[in-house]
Amino acid sequence: MLTAVQPDVFRLELQTPLPVGSVNAFVVKSADAVVLVDCGLNHQPTRDALVAGLAQLGVRPEDVTAVVLTHGHVDHVGAASLFQEKDVPIYALPGVQTWLQPGGPWEQYRLEFFDALYRTMGLPDAIRERAKQEFFLLQKWNDRSVVNVELHPGETLPWFPDYEVLHVPGHAQAALALWNRVTGELLVGDQLLPHVSSNAFVEPKLNASSGRTADRTRSLLDYRENLRELANMSLTTVYPGHGAPFQGASELIGQRLREQEERRASFFELVRLRPGATAFELATTYFPRHLHQVSLILSESLGYLDWLEADGDVRTQVDETGVVHWYSAH
Ligand SMILES: [Zn+2]
Repeated sequence: MLTAVQPDVFRLELQTPLPVGSVNAFVVKSADAVVLVDCGLNHQPTRDALVAGLAQLGVRPEDVTAVVLTHGHVDHVGAASLFQEKDVPIYALPGVQTWLQPGGPWEQYRLEFFDALYRTMGLPDAIRERAKQEFFLLQKWNDRSVVNVELHPGETLPWFPDYEVLHVPGHAQAALALWNRVTGELLVGDQLLPHVSSNAFVEPKLNASSGRTADRTRSLLDYRENLRELANMSLTTVYPGHGAPFQGASELIGQRLREQEERRASFFELVRLRPGATAFELATTYFPRHLHQVSLILSESLGYLDWLEADGDVRTQVDETGVVHWYSAH
């Protein structure tokens, strides 16, 4: 009788031209299959490093059985076309496809969504335009590709049945992790990083007729709920999207949750001291040194305001121009 052999997991650390530094791709490999989890962005030195890293494992791009994308952010997906050109199928959650078509209709949808959202957050016109640009500048590292096979939570990988697909919304909405139910290993994407807390990006929901009318996600609340689920699993080695693999996931999650609670308390204090402030005013007061990353601090601030509002600690008032003002509720 054949005994199932656990596949080996190899980390390929790829340098990128982005402020994030390096990004990881992982190779999950047995004698019969080679699965590449994430692939870096579309930048020639990054692509060359990926091909060289695979070659060290004796794998050419066309030998890859499948590419699995943890989520749609450009630093994880931009080089997918390198494999797709060689008929390697791409697997991802539904929704990831919307990130793989730079210049396509979903880019327009997101553009309209952020334009409308930033107006309600009270951004001056010039800063609103710059904030929208931050997102689209990243697209130069993207390339067009197509998800061939949609994965769903609870399914297992066809080649490695011990690996279960988990939905891990927070950092991104369409985000998966791959959990080895036998060994407790977890390929987690950007949902949990060893050295920095992940940003829970606000996103449009994808079910509206246009981005302008799209509802938005409460990403930080989704993120916290998912972190608590992950903390309750018995995990061994965690393979993150950035940084070195690590152990002790539940301690790290406990630390992240506490850091968020502290930040929540200081946001509440800020709203109390600045009654009627817009989210933009609160964000730039809280993060005075991050004005070059305005889309990031807006997303972060909105997350804490959502949380306080969900708990009934703050309330909003919309003025005649559609701008939302925030007040302490007690
Ligand atoms: Zn990401």
